[in-house]
Amino acid sequence: MELRRDPITQSWVILGQRDTLSESAEECPLEPAKIEKQRTILTRPSEGPWQVCVLPHPQPLYHVEGEPGRLAEGMYDKMGAIGAHEVVVETPLHDKRMSQFSDEEIERVLWVWVARIADLKKDPRFKYVSVFKNQGASAGEEWTHAHSQITATIFVPRRIKYELSSAHEWFKDKERCIFCDTVRQEEKQGKRIVDVQGDYYAICPYASRVPYEIWLLHRRHNHLFEQPRPAANRKQLAALLGRVLRRVEKVAPAFHLVVHTAPSTKSKKGELAGYWKTLAEDYHWHIEILPIVERRSKSYSIKEVYFNGELPEEAAAQLRALDPNS
Ligand SMILES: [Zn+2]
Ligand SMILES: [Zn+2]
Ligand SMILES: [Zn+2]
Repeated sequence: MELRRDPITQSWVILGQRDTLSESAEECPLEPAKIEKQRTILTRPSEGPWQVCVLPHPQPLYHVEGEPGRLAEGMYDKMGAIGAHEVVVETPLHDKRMSQFSDEEIERVLWVWVARIADLKKDPRFKYVSVFKNQGASAGEEWTHAHSQITATIFVPRRIKYELSSAHEWFKDKERCIFCDTVRQEEKQGKRIVDVQGDYYAICPYASRVPYEIWLLHRRHNHLFEQPRPAANRKQLAALLGRVLRRVEKVAPAFHLVVHTAPSTKSKKGELAGYWKTLAEDYHWHIEILPIVERRSKSYSIKEVYFNGELPEEAAAQLRALDPNS
């Protein structure tokens, strides 16, 4: 595996071969009997039978060992695919989806995400830790068994860089967080709110990229998902996530979920140097859910302009009307 950067858009691209993974239940590598035979990174609960178990990815995109150094190839930049790639097995049961978990079970998955991000961020080589979940064949899920994935990379993904620079500009101008401002505005208007649990909001963003796009935001400012404040009450976030996923599954056969948190500040070199003074004030963690509906436009990958046939105000109204309990 090798990472190459497009010098014009500054996107990093992973290049390399990967085998296709098997799909049948008997061959599922995430079954407890198979997991017992290998090295695990973390299990939860730590005593008794586990519900959540973290493993090294069997076919990692990134490897912990090797030379991380950037190499110039003429005008181009490339580097080894150094990083970590882990699988979070969310339940021992092959057929149980996250939308069918209890709030306590979802909270346990959130706790594991938090623990892995915090741990991987201790490695000064890593600039960013991503947590994501692809559910459904059209989302490119690797196994049907409920799981999420964690990658730690020596670069900051492009979309995060965009968010960081916009949030930074907004803060420089107004001395306010753009995400906090978004929550206040959505609260006032109400029409794009899907659900609220305590101080956690689920909204369809104003410029939704795909039908039924949903962001989960906490009303209280915090740039780090992995450092919940004492009053964070993640049980409410777990309840909201369960309610939102049960609605999403009624309108879409598949979705992507991604946690966006601030990058690591341990590395002072490279693309975001000089940025860090106001990071804690201007960035704000959140979760993005991008459902995949069958009629989705396929043109995005060529033009990189989203076409969404569903107004977010109407999507939010539809989602609100669906039963979040079953
Ligand atoms: Zn399985
Ligand atoms: Zn904020
Ligand atoms: Zn985001």
